Amino acid sequence: MDKKQAIGLCLCGMCPSFIDCKEEIAFCIIEHGVSTCIKKEQGCLCPGCPVQAEEDFQHVYYCIRGSESEQSHAR
Ligand code: SF4
Ligand code: SF4
Repeated sequence: MDKKQAIGLCLCGMCPSFIDCKEEIAFCIIEHGVSTCIKKEQGCLCPGCPVQAEEDFQHVYYCIRGSESEQSHAR
């Protein structure tokens, strides 16, 4: 799916770890996923997200650990 579609479905805005610093969400799908302001892992809603399911993404905490592609390549 494209970025716009992912942003529309993204659950980050409801996440306990989320801090709104007016950046683009759907951290899993953008090339460089890491947020500039979210730093503390206080729960992640990605496992229940339709984008995660549809794209068959395997990671969590994209906002801190990087996008799906970044985390996949780090292994
Ligand atoms: S998997 Fe996580 S980062 Fe990606 S769109 Fe869903 S809630 Fe947002
Ligand atoms: S990537 Fe996960 S931890 Fe980060 S804001 Fe989105 S749902 Fe929360």
